[in-house]
Amino acid sequence: MAKRKVVLTYPPEQVDKPITYHLVKDFDLVINILRAEIREEETGRMVLEIEGDEEKIEQGLKFLRNRSIDVQEAARDILLDEEKCVDCGACTAVCLPKALHLNTGTWKLEFDKEKCIFCELCARSCPLKIIEVAF
Ligand code: SF4
Ligand code: SF4
Repeated sequence: MAKRKVVLTYPPEQVDKPITYHLVKDFDLVINILRAEIREEETGRMVLEIEGDEEKIEQGLKFLRNRSIDVQEAARDILLDEEKCVDCGACTAVCLPKALHLNTGTWKLEFDKEKCIFCELCARSCPLKIIEVAF
């Protein structure tokens, strides 16, 4: 049995489709939804932990990609060196779930790990490279 953690990004036309049902029923996979941010008629994001036969997992991910769902491997953790942060806000612009935001009172960066979907975009956007992605 293999286990993978992936980030799915849905186009609006797929948001109301029962894709986790298909992963379970058609590919015999065990699905654990770690995060989900899906609104009707908008792009949706979901972090899934998928467990099952390696080949079936690959088939399931191919099934998703064939439905125009973007599938990326998810990071295990995001680590931010707050001491070195200059609160420039560059990382907040790419953080779609708003896990990173500037406090409008103090203009300091705040990180709400509960909202993070481990997409890694912040790590790539930080000019100081102080955001680390752990796999
Ligand atoms: S990895 Fe970074 S950009 Fe992505 S959701 Fe988490 S904090 Fe936001
Ligand atoms: S991009 Fe880097 S330096 Fe700028 S606010 Fe984010 S973590 Fe801090």
